[in-house]
Amino acid sequence: MVSSDSYEELAKKLKLIDQQNKQLDDATKILIERDFELRKAYDELEKEKEQVAAERNKFLVALQSISDAVIAVDLDWNIIIFNKAAENLTGYAVEDVLGKPIFSVIKVFENGAQVPYTTYSPKIISGFEGVVFSKPILRICGLNNKESFVQLIAAQITEGSSVKLGSILTLHDITEEQELERMKLDFVSMAAHELRTPLTSIKGYIYIFIRDYLKFMDEKQATILQRMDISAQKLASLVENLLNIARIERGTFTVNLQPADWTALIKGAVSEVMAQVKDKGLELTLDLPPVGLPEVRVDRLRINEVLSNLLTNAINYSVSGGKIKVAVKLQGDEVITQVSDTGQGIPQEALPHLFTKFFRVSGPLEQGSKGTGLGLYIAKSITLMHHGRIWVDSQLNKGSTFSFALPVYREEEK
Ligand code: ADP
Repeated sequence: MVSSDSYEELAKKLKLIDQQNKQLDDATKILIERDFELRKAYDELEKEKEQVAAERNKFLVALQSISDAVIAVDLDWNIIIFNKAAENLTGYAVEDVLGKPIFSVIKVFENGAQVPYTTYSPKIISGFEGVVFSKPILRICGLNNKESFVQLIAAQITEGSSVKLGSILTLHDITEEQELERMKLDFVSMAAHELRTPLTSIKGYIYIFIRDYLKFMDEKQATILQRMDISAQKLASLVENLLNIARIERGTFTVNLQPADWTALIKGAVSEVMAQVKDKGLELTLDLPPVGLPEVRVDRLRINEVLSNLLTNAINYSVSGGKIKVAVKLQGDEVITQVSDTGQGIPQEALPHLFTKFFRVSGPLEQGSKGTGLGLYIAKSITLMHHGRIWVDSQLNKGSTFSFALPVYREEEK
């Protein structure tokens, strides 16, 4: 016989079981919902994965088909991307280089000196996006010292460190252009060398003519002879300048930097042109600092070419009555030398081209002068070789000031 208490107890238990069942039902419902959501998320993820894979494939196809070599390295400089053009450029097959450090695959040189891999592929700068290294002409050596000339650009992306991506290097092959440039320079320097000898005799004969026969000539003959002299000199300076340009561009134009008494050098260069200054009816003043200047290191012969070019230009592009001023001052870590004139000046639009090869303004004074448009290009190259800089300020019909700065030789460099 079941007591009423036991019934009650049973009823309670049944209720509890019922409640638990309900809870279980709810939990199952939630689980089913979660499962559904998870499946949905999974499907979305799969779709995204497919999209990423498609994007990646597209990127890889594009990478393989571009003509520039692309090499990407990880944070330890090991190669992770090496496209078809990189294979062609270096001679290596992609499977032989993936995972290998970049420095064991290519060697990079600038003007004969090896460029460290940490320079052309610098350590990742966290959060930085953009170009971290760029050079227009570099020589690279690949498999079996396969040599090429390239324009190299290295870039990094913001997410670089999070996805373990170091730099992405793009190498544009300029070997053919360089070869053409070399041939052009060879031709220019060979032609200039060949012209030098006959030109020396022409100049010699003209000199003898002027020295011995000018006094017997009538005005017309004398003018012709003087024009011949100017033309021969113009040709000779063109030949010398062409030889210098070929040397500069080949990298064989060197400077031997030695301590120099800068003010004495300036005085020397000025005295060389004083006859021309007087002949042309110009006035030249020198403004040198009263106390000694700190030491600058120069190649006397080369830097004299810069001074002489600036002085000759100031004379050539001024008319009688004009004033030329040569000033030297110490400014910060630099000795600044300025050659100012009150000559014809230079149009603003010509200023950016002034230090480039063969550039001449077509002003009235250029017509009769024996200029070649190479002097300032050479002057700039020489100044740069002295770790200096050169610039111009000019106003048309008012005059020009050409300035160049040379670094003061610091004690710790001695
Ligand atoms: P160039 O042999 O023709 O003088 P440069 O390279 O020395 O060659 O100068 C290039 C050109 O710059 C000159 O032809 C001239 O047009 C202009 N130029 C240079 N210096 C001056 C100056 N002091 N005043 C005016 N024009 C100048």
